[in-house]
Amino acid sequence: MALVNDHFLKLPNNYLFADIAKKVNAFKAMHPKTDVISLGIGDVTQPLAPAVIEAIHKAADEMATTQGFRGYGPEQGYDFLREAILKNDFLPRGIHLDKDEIFVNDGAKSDTGNIQELVRWDNSIGVTDPIYPVYIDSNVMIGRAGWKGEDGRWSNVMYLPCNAENGFVPKIPDRRVDVIYLCYPNNPTGTVITKAELRKWVNYALHNDTLIFYDAAYQAYIQDNDIPHSIYEIRGARKCAIEFHSYSKTAGFTGVRCGYTVVPKEVTAATLTGERISLNPLWNRRQCTKFNGTSYISQRAAEAIYTPEGKKQIKATINYYMQNAKKMLETLRSLGFECYGGENAPYIWAKTPEVSSSWKFFEEMLYGAHVVCTPGVGFGPAGEGYVRFTAFGSHEKTDEALDRIRQWLK
Ligand SMILES: *Cc1c(COP(=O)(O)O)cnc(C)c1O
Repeated sequence: MALVNDHFLKLPNNYLFADIAKKVNAFKAMHPKTDVISLGIGDVTQPLAPAVIEAIHKAADEMATTQGFRGYGPEQGYDFLREAILKNDFLPRGIHLDKDEIFVNDGAKSDTGNIQELVRWDNSIGVTDPIYPVYIDSNVMIGRAGWKGEDGRWSNVMYLPCNAENGFVPKIPDRRVDVIYLCYPNNPTGTVITKAELRKWVNYALHNDTLIFYDAAYQAYIQDNDIPHSIYEIRGARKCAIEFHSYSKTAGFTGVRCGYTVVPKEVTAATLTGERISLNPLWNRRQCTKFNGTSYISQRAAEAIYTPEGKKQIKATINYYMQNAKKMLETLRSLGFECYGGENAPYIWAKTPEVSSSWKFFEEMLYGAHVVCTPGVGFGPAGEGYVRFTAFGSHEKTDEALDRIRQWLK
């Protein structure tokens, strides 16, 4: 008899977006003629950059020839992409990494979920709250998170609430934790961290022997010059931090699939006898066993975003989304909403009006304005009383949604 991994049974059945889809579908069944606009799901909508499309065609043509055909590639990614990453994402910021410290992957979700395999099951973890659900759920699956309590919190997870009071930057904890997940610019709140604040985290990690898993999936949306794009802009971070990047939001690769993880050789974890083990060779070993590389075509597509044309084109699309964000912020604020984020990230985190829970507001807006948002509580207990709006729609749909919200609130 095979015994099930019963940690899976502790996970709530429904995934947030499935719950939302169910409620939206119920509305649509009752109002078949009404079209609903979603400012909810975090997927992009604009087509791939022409430079990327050209690279995909070219790579596909190469695959059609005996000389150009590629089978299994290096598990860590092709050199052409790893070198482009070093040269474009890190060197200009004064960060010197080795090619072997870059691991190309099929997107940041896989690696943010898998990275916890590198530490023992009985390590303690900490998260900012609200957060991207992958960090906690992947720890639940192997039994590291404990039990989910009535208050929606897992017993072995340290929660660092982020709210308007602390400007969505959590206080540095007064006790130590083995592993902490940070995500900036943040999904879902759209808020960012300054270098000074991030430096406090790196110092905390160095003093407490804490490992930082830093998700930089939205770094391309940063507009302010002094906001860090990478945790390695902070001195000492290469001793304590692993960083995740994704081309999904940067260049619309949610369907193409490509990203990368940085595991500096200096990052270590301890054995029970206190020996320090470098995590870089461990991650390499893990990837070589469980991952067979990202497709050649996807990697050539990713390489193309680092060409001069590619850079210009993806910047234009990011600007397009950020124009939505600007309009959304202006409109929602003018309607009396307290809003955060939206300036260096494609997300706006809005406080629901007095006494309205996340889900209640979600339903009221669905039925009243036919606009979908994401209930903040779906991202963690501290998200209660907030909703997330995304700027990933077309200009037309976004404008229409804002008009509807305005009419509804009249
Ligand atoms: C979208 C997103 C990712 C990237 O996911 P991919 O697997 O690369 O598509 C990673 N982290 C956060 C917080 C995200 O919102």
